[in-house]
Amino acid sequence: MKKGWYSFLINEKKSIEERLFVITLAVSAVSFSVIILSNVITGTALVDIGVIAVLILLMGLTAFWAIKKKHIKGGSAIISALVVFCMLPYTFFTSGAVFGGAPCWFIFAGLFVSLIISGKWRVFFLVADLAVSGGCYIVAYMYPELVRTNKTLTAYILSYTALAFICIAIGVIISIEILIYKKESERNEKQRKEIAALNDAQNRFFSSMSHEIRTPINTIIGLNEMILREDVSDEVAEDAANIRAASKMLLHLINDILDMSKLESGSMQLSCVPYRIGDMLSELVNMIWVRARDKGLEFNVNVSPDVPAQVIGDDVRVKQILINILNNAVKYTREGSVSLSIQCGKMKDDKLSIIYTISDTGMGIKKENLPYLFDAFKRVDEDKNRHIEGTGLGLSIVRQLVDLMGGEVTVNSIYTQGTTFVIEIPQVVAGPETVGDLNLEKKHKIMREAYYSRFEAPDASVLVVDDNASNLLVCKKLLRDTKVSVDTASSGEDALRLTTEKFYHVIFMDHMMPGMDGIECHRRILTQKGGKCTDSKIISFTANADAESRALYEREGFDGFLIKPVDGKSLEKELARNLPRELVHYSVEDDDDVLEESMAWINSEQNKRLIAITTESTADLPKELLEQYDIAVIPHLVATGEGVFRDSIDLDTKGLIAYMSKSGSSVVTHVPDVAASEAFFAEQLSHANSILHITLSKDIENSGFATAQEAAASFNNVTVVDCGHISSGQGLQVLEACRLAQQGKTISEITASMEKRKELVQTSFIVDNLDYLARAGQVSPRIARITKTLSLRPTLVMKKGRMTVGRVFFGSRAKAWKHYIKRSLGVKSHIDTHMLFITYTSLGRDELEFIRDEVEKIIHFENVYFQKAAPSVSVNSGPNTFGLLYSFRSDEE
Ligand code: ADP
Repeated sequence: MKKGWYSFLINEKKSIEERLFVITLAVSAVSFSVIILSNVITGTALVDIGVIAVLILLMGLTAFWAIKKKHIKGGSAIISALVVFCMLPYTFFTSGAVFGGAPCWFIFAGLFVSLIISGKWRVFFLVADLAVSGGCYIVAYMYPELVRTNKTLTAYILSYTALAFICIAIGVIISIEILIYKKESERNEKQRKEIAALNDAQNRFFSSMSHEIRTPINTIIGLNEMILREDVSDEVAEDAANIRAASKMLLHLINDILDMSKLESGSMQLSCVPYRIGDMLSELVNMIWVRARDKGLEFNVNVSPDVPAQVIGDDVRVKQILINILNNAVKYTREGSVSLSIQCGKMKDDKLSIIYTISDTGMGIKKENLPYLFDAFKRVDEDKNRHIEGTGLGLSIVRQLVDLMGGEVTVNSIYTQGTTFVIEIPQVVAGPETVGDLNLEKKHKIMREAYYSRFEAPDASVLVVDDNASNLLVCKKLLRDTKVSVDTASSGEDALRLTTEKFYHVIFMDHMMPGMDGIECHRRILTQKGGKCTDSKIISFTANADAESRALYEREGFDGFLIKPVDGKSLEKELARNLPRELVHYSVEDDDDVLEESMAWINSEQNKRLIAITTESTADLPKELLEQYDIAVIPHLVATGEGVFRDSIDLDTKGLIAYMSKSGSSVVTHVPDVAASEAFFAEQLSHANSILHITLSKDIENSGFATAQEAAASFNNVTVVDCGHISSGQGLQVLEACRLAQQGKTISEITASMEKRKELVQTSFIVDNLDYLARAGQVSPRIARITKTLSLRPTLVMKKGRMTVGRVFFGSRAKAWKHYIKRSLGVKSHIDTHMLFITYTSLGRDELEFIRDEVEKIIHFENVYFQKAAPSVSVNSGPNTFGLLYSFRSDEE
């Protein structure tokens, strides 16, 4: 029996809650039985004993149900309710109230509830326990006749038995809990060790799998390259080319799986070294350019001149990220172009964020697929992509590597039109030098390093050390055209024998060899007594591709690092780099063409903007300001009896007002729909990394806020803000956003500032009458008629995002206007005098001059813009309307 309880306590198949629940209940059952027993002994009425027994039975049944149905939480709540609301008050009044065991039972109830219930229910029942006990005390005090009193001896007995049993119960429960927790933490520790061991085993497995597979692929790729170099028939050449493609694909797959396993097990480590961004770029560009050219795609590279020349980071992984994204861009684009642009972002701590933007004009990604894009093994839109090779691992690796570097990757895509990935990678800047304009000389250097022409070095001698005969054969063959003399050694011992006999300029050394491994052999060669190769360049030539191995070779002082399988070009490049310059004779071929073509893509001028500020035609901004700040505007639509027109593009205000007064018919304005907004954003994103789109107040009837937001949901980097105003009030907010964007503020900083400025911007108009608003259904026709008959000239004022009728002026137009101007500009001392918009509908030159003079009498603005209100704004105000729109100064200014 004891054994049974013990095994129940440590049974890991049962949840901790279940075990605690059962234990607490078991101990409580014993305690409750004590109540009955003491009641029997002290001669309590049978009916009371019966009631308590029924309550205990109910609790038992609930417990049974809860355990059987695995409803521990529900069972705990029901039992707690029975204890707190029934059992305790009942025993309190039937066993002498405070002169008995009841007070102790209240304490026990608190403990009981705390043990079996968690979360807010625990708080509830604890409070209930206190409240019920308090209530019982008060009632018992006020109505003592309700309490069945005990004789003094009985009271003492009941009190003591309760106290004793509760002490024991608490002791037992706490000991058991400690036991359970001890067992649990032992189990957790054991599991942690097992997982760590499993991870190690998995890493070892992947690492050896990678090593074992790379070795035969090295032979396949190497020997296949020899076939391709021979003068073989077209058919054989084609077969060999297919073998090469398949081997590379296999290699790619192995690398991806290996990376994935490391990332998932958390054992991927970054190897941060100083590297030149230009060099990294040139290798990358060379590779992608060839692929893009083969598919007939244009490939553009834009590098901002202020990008630092040298940074510290894991260049291999940065390149891997970019290659994955660029490869995808080429893979999923049938026609058009792929572009890579590089810019500096913000400094954070001591790191500068380098922003890589990769855009293509390819098939795009459906909005509903965007959330799954970075999932491992997930290929989206498979119907369309079936013929395109891929595993669905690339983007998952990209996301995890970027996360590891503390960066961020975002994507926005318009289905069927193209995709843009923006990757921000923080790197430590290694010096003040910037890439600058990547002038010809520099580009030349970059490209020459990336493109190695063949060379010959007949006076050079090389030793290749590898236990695998095929590897030796491949290496020997690949170096054949360079005419270097190549010796081979099949073990470390063999190598040490040769290095005492002959000097080798370069030694390619395998790492994993039976007996003496490559590291040991390297050490011995450099310190060999009587050895001829103590000054030789030794290059690690290994199938261990991971960063740790690379770091190990660096620590050991190897002069270079080559990963198997190696292609002829990389092998030659590494050899040439390590041979004395005078021994190497380049046969420069037609690489100047490659050079020129390559240079064409590196263009440091056409950079994408970090943030583009866009808005609607309702913002009533003059063309010169739109151009100056490069603000793109999406037109609202105006529907008349003649058709639907784009605001300010197909339709001007004068024509619209003339049409309205002639036809008397009303005109309806529409906001652009979601599809049009999506297309607008997509177009703008080809010139910018992110968009801040500013709409007119969302509380205005024809606000484009909701549709713009819906469209923005298709993108990751479009933010829509309601500016809280209309017309040039909206324009003022837009200009402020542009100013902040130019200062390098982030989108959230800009939106926060705009939110504050909502109250500062003053948007108001004085209208001739309310006819046009009545036509648009915004005020009742009766009010419009009355104001007209009484020659009242109302103002429309923007308050908390809504347009309301403000002050009303009497009399002639000139008189009313003067008053409006005076009132509007009354609080002179607060006005920001930098800019005033006089935004109007159907006013002549004289009238505008009159307004300007009246304004000037009160206050001088540095810039006054006379702006015709857009047709979509004018349809509501009607002719002979104008407004003074400006901003108050903020407290900080
Ligand atoms: P894959 O090996 O399938 O290319 P990735 O993880 O690299 O795997 O990409 C996942 C999926 O994302 C791809 O199958 C493809 O459907 C989609 N995708 C990635 N990049 C692009 C792009 N530039 N244009 C369109 N679709 C893309």
